[in-house]
Amino acid sequence: MSRTHEPDAPVNGPEWPIWPPPATDEQRQALLRVLDSGRWGATGGTVTEDFAAAFAARVGAAHGVCTVNGTVALFLALRALGVGHGDEVIVPAYTFVASATAVVLAGAVPVVADVREETLHLDPRAVRGLIGPRTKAVMPVHLGGAPAETEALRGLGPAVVEDAAQAHGAARHGRPAGALGDAACFSFQSGKAMTAGEGGIVVTDDRGTYERLWALHNVGRSLDGGWYEHPELGWNLRMTEFQAALLHPQLELLDGWNDRRARGAATLAAALDEVPGLDLIPPPPGTTRHTWHLAMLRYDPRAFGGHTKPAFLTAMAAEGVPLDAGYRSLTRMPYIRSAAPCPVAETAEDTVVWVRQPMLMADDAALQTIARAALTVQRDFGR
Ligand SMILES: *Cc1c(COP(=O)(O)O)cnc(C)c1O
Repeated sequence: MSRTHEPDAPVNGPEWPIWPPPATDEQRQALLRVLDSGRWGATGGTVTEDFAAAFAARVGAAHGVCTVNGTVALFLALRALGVGHGDEVIVPAYTFVASATAVVLAGAVPVVADVREETLHLDPRAVRGLIGPRTKAVMPVHLGGAPAETEALRGLGPAVVEDAAQAHGAARHGRPAGALGDAACFSFQSGKAMTAGEGGIVVTDDRGTYERLWALHNVGRSLDGGWYEHPELGWNLRMTEFQAALLHPQLELLDGWNDRRARGAATLAAALDEVPGLDLIPPPPGTTRHTWHLAMLRYDPRAFGGHTKPAFLTAMAAEGVPLDAGYRSLTRMPYIRSAAPCPVAETAEDTVVWVRQPMLMADDAALQTIARAALTVQRDFGR
């Protein structure tokens, strides 16, 4: 692996927090307990099963199945809800590519819908226009840690699979992300709010869906069947006990981490009030808990002497503020066929920049340097 997603180290400016934070004593002990037990796989121990139950309860669902990563969690959820060859799944154009590639993994076709101008979240109006006879599921993405407008998608017919990879602990109208669709998928990859380096989980309230998820991720076995009985088609997509040992103690830390990022986002928003042409993109109305995986900012080149976003990012990095360029529209991926134009997502490529979650955990003084650096860049660009 030669490339990480971390921007280059700043040449000056504050030291930004690293993620994940140092392991706690509880995590070390939990890891050592698994190591010494000799039961390293989830079929031998109970650490993964216990974590799955605890995590599901935390996000308002009855059942959870841990798996190797978030992409595979999405694959499992789609398959468990009956998505397969020839089916279509509607996904937003502005998201991580895995939202769409998981659909392909399930044998189905991703149909890309545009996002809302104000929030960059999946636009329910675009979804309604794309539903056809083959549409089996819709995948709202809780972009940046704010839940998508799921209630506008339920009852349309297709199953609703939450891509909650960025939204551990988020809520919409008081309901947790994890309880807003037919199934919800979280990622525990290194950059996510809870992490074991890699990992994922699917949660659901439905017992039948849970049993199918369990079979699919455990080589087609059934919950009460034998080791070499495989009544369903399935694969080994299980998490290890080590991952679950690292993750379980994080359930106690999650609220504190989310609070800290929310404070950071508030500090950032206040500081950006002083910077014309650089605005925090608001979460969808109805967001009651935002986990601030990303703070997305709208960059208006006109306020910066007409300089492009890449020029702005380079200048900010030189000021010690490494921002992120964010996603390209899924309509740009050569293997994804566009059913409809997605002008909002495509415009976002040129106008949206991100402050990533570890930066939002910095202290107020550091966060205020983001706005100060932007003002400096603005002045330099104006000359
Ligand atoms: C991280 C992420 C995924 C994929 O999770 P992995 O664990 O990296 O496979 C899917 N969707 C979104 C929106 C993500 O941010």
